[in-house]
Amino acid sequence: MSLTIAKKIIITTLSIWLVTSCKQQGGTTVSKDAKTSPSVSLQMFNSGQIKVNRLEAFSDSLHLYKGQSKAFVDPTYIITHHPTGKRLIWDTGLPEAIGKTPITPGDGTFTLSRQDSLVNQLKTLQLSYDDFDYIALSHSHFDHTGTANYFKNATWLVQANEYEFITNKDNAALGLAVSELTKVEKLKGDYDVFGDGSVVIKYTPGHTIGHQSLYIDLGLKRPILLTGDLYHFQENRQNKISPSFNYNFEQTRASMEAFETFAKQKNAIVIIQHSPKDYKKLQELLKNKTIH
Ligand SMILES: [Zn+2]
Repeated sequence: MSLTIAKKIIITTLSIWLVTSCKQQGGTTVSKDAKTSPSVSLQMFNSGQIKVNRLEAFSDSLHLYKGQSKAFVDPTYIITHHPTGKRLIWDTGLPEAIGKTPITPGDGTFTLSRQDSLVNQLKTLQLSYDDFDYIALSHSHFDHTGTANYFKNATWLVQANEYEFITNKDNAALGLAVSELTKVEKLKGDYDVFGDGSVVIKYTPGHTIGHQSLYIDLGLKRPILLTGDLYHFQENRQNKISPSFNYNFEQTRASMEAFETFAKQKNAIVIIQHSPKDYKKLQELLKNKTIH
C-alpha cells in the first residue's frame, strides 16, 4: 500500500486503539511426510481481513477495476526447520489495534478487521512469540508488520535498503511497527535462511525498495513460492499490473520476470498471499499432501 495511505491508516489505527476481546481460532499445521525425512514444516493462520473498496488503486494507471471491490486475506506463515527446531515467522498481519469490528480509515480505500490476537493464534499451535529465531517481512507496509514487535528476541532478516527506508525518521509512523526489533541481519539479495536451501528469501524489489518473496521446499513434489505483495491478486499476475502505490514500476516488472523464471525453473506452486483462493488452496494442498 502507498506510503501516504499506509501512514494515514497507521496513524488512524494507532490513535483509535480499539480494545477487543479475543477468541481462539484454529490454525493449519502441516508437516512434511515423515516417510520423506522432513526438514521443514509449515503452519499458517489469517492475521486480518482487508476489503479493498476501490480496486482501481491496484492498477498502475488507475484505469482498471473501476467500481470493483475485492476481499483480501492477510496471512502469517510459520516455518520450522527440523531437526534444529529453528523457526521463522513470515509476515505478521494487521495491527491488533484493528479489532473484530471493521474500520474504514482515511480515504476509504480499505476496510480492515482482525478477528484474533497473535498470542491467541500462536497458542492454538502450542507456540509463543519467544519460540522464534527469525522474523522476516515481505515488506514494511502496515498490513505485514502489524505484530512484528512481539518478536523482539528473534533476528530480523531484512534487506539493507528496506531497513534504511523503514528506520528513516521520515517514515516514523511505519517504523513504529518494527521499533522493538533490535537484532537485525541486513541482507543484500537472496538469503538461504537455514543454510540447506529449504527456505530461501528471494529479493524481489519494486513494490517497496527492498521487497522480498519466500521459497519453501517442504520435500513434497513441488516447492512453494509465497509472493509477498509482488502480486495482490491473480489478474495482476496474469497481466503484470502493479498497484498505483508502487515504489518503482520498472523494478517490479523486472522482479516479476525473475520470479516467474525462478518459479518455472523450480516447478513451484505460486501462492499469492492476499488471495483468499490461494490461502484455501495452500491449506488444502498441504492438508492432503497433494502437491504434484
Ligand atoms: Zn499487503
